[in-house]
Amino acid sequence: MKLKFQWLGLSRAIHPAGNKHTANQSIVPLTGFKEVSIPLDMQVGPGCKPTVAKGDHVNIGDKIGEPLGPWSVPVHASVSGKVTKIEKQILSDGGKAEYVTIESDGKNTVSEALAPPVVTDKESFLKAVRDAGLVGLGGAAFPTHIKLNPPPDKNVDTLIVNAAECEPYITTDHRIALDYADDVIYGALVTAHWCGIDTVIIGTEDNKKDAARSLEEAVKRAKEGECNAFWPKNGVTAKVLPTSYPTGAEKVLIALLTDRVVPEGGLPADVGVIVQNITTLCVLAQNLKTGMPLVKKAITLDGGAVKKPGNYEVPIGAPIRDVIECAGGTVSEPAKIIMGGPMMGVAVDDITRPILKNNNAILIFDEKEAKLPKESACISCGRCLRACPMRLQPMKLDKAARAINPNELEELHVMNCIECGSCTYVCPAKRYLVQNIRNGKAYVRAEAQAAKENAKKGDSN
Ligand code: SF4
Ligand code: SF4
Repeated sequence: MKLKFQWLGLSRAIHPAGNKHTANQSIVPLTGFKEVSIPLDMQVGPGCKPTVAKGDHVNIGDKIGEPLGPWSVPVHASVSGKVTKIEKQILSDGGKAEYVTIESDGKNTVSEALAPPVVTDKESFLKAVRDAGLVGLGGAAFPTHIKLNPPPDKNVDTLIVNAAECEPYITTDHRIALDYADDVIYGALVTAHWCGIDTVIIGTEDNKKDAARSLEEAVKRAKEGECNAFWPKNGVTAKVLPTSYPTGAEKVLIALLTDRVVPEGGLPADVGVIVQNITTLCVLAQNLKTGMPLVKKAITLDGGAVKKPGNYEVPIGAPIRDVIECAGGTVSEPAKIIMGGPMMGVAVDDITRPILKNNNAILIFDEKEAKLPKESACISCGRCLRACPMRLQPMKLDKAARAINPNELEELHVMNCIECGSCTYVCPAKRYLVQNIRNGKAYVRAEAQAAKENAKKGDSN
């Protein structure tokens, strides 16, 4: 029993400062962008090929990228104006992708072709989800239509609505729960209905009791209103969990809400669960009502160097530099810019990088906040071990990654690391654990890829 309790993450949680400074600020649309550069690869899996050419005029919602395979989702114009460039550029993760640059005409004209999709069964529902360009908006960027369509033998019976938002600073999901609760619940109910799921569980944390109340009230309205037609067999339950990190990580959330443990290397569907982020469900609901695909993203803008921290809705592809300017600029020289939260986000090397579909925050730290403590030698205290929600051995993974030893990394189950950063957070020696472990995962992937290519060569010889 004790082991199970520990696996559920309850004894392995950490409690970083929440810094949810913007929780009381509704999402405000930002306008005035002169240009957007939209990457055609913003998801897990292959991206898109352009469907527009230099000189074309596009309106908001027009398709500009056609999927390259069954896993891909289309990409749409986020402003109206003229396509001025289509070229390969670097992505924030170091990869390369084709970008479509659109010079805004300032009119924000919406495509006349947009109309609510006709959904009559699971197939047409999944097509609508895909056509909307939806990927996991909590940060994972996993294509939503794939996630909602696991093999039938997985027997998925539970949909979890992830409203935990455990990353410090980020409050967009919180605002979505407060300001768009009806859309979230509608999105959850239709998803469960068309995917044949009988149970819906909403997971929030107790530092967002108002969000939990708002969602519960929306559930009541849905039951008494038209949405009753989509009511799942076992109903909708809202659960408020103790605030801790990383409660919002899929595997941890599933364990906390259902007592089910996703096996190593497995997916939530392996234990009969699909997890959807609250904002993904909100955008899905709005698409079903209006036909508008995913073209804008709500982000939290915060950090000591930001003049007006807040929650802003920005066109996908807007350069970070312009987002900062449109939101009022900075009060001091930015020393570090992070896409995402401080625990799992990535540092941005270039301020002109665009807002992506899965971005949920831009943090602009001043020099004091950005200062990284100096690493010292591991003192074998075991704190990282006790903090790891996946029961890994971070100090050993760190050592194997520094030694570029893919075999040992695999033996230590490096691919089970969810990159939550808890180990780094608790380490008194300030070791760069998660950074090295992330590299370690890349070494294992590279080794597997090389083995695959060698096997292919062997076959053709
Ligand atoms: S980053 Fe990986 S190794 Fe470190 S605590 Fe999180 S899951 Fe464990
Ligand atoms: S927490 Fe840091 S010092 Fe302690 S065992 Fe882990 S890596 Fe070593």
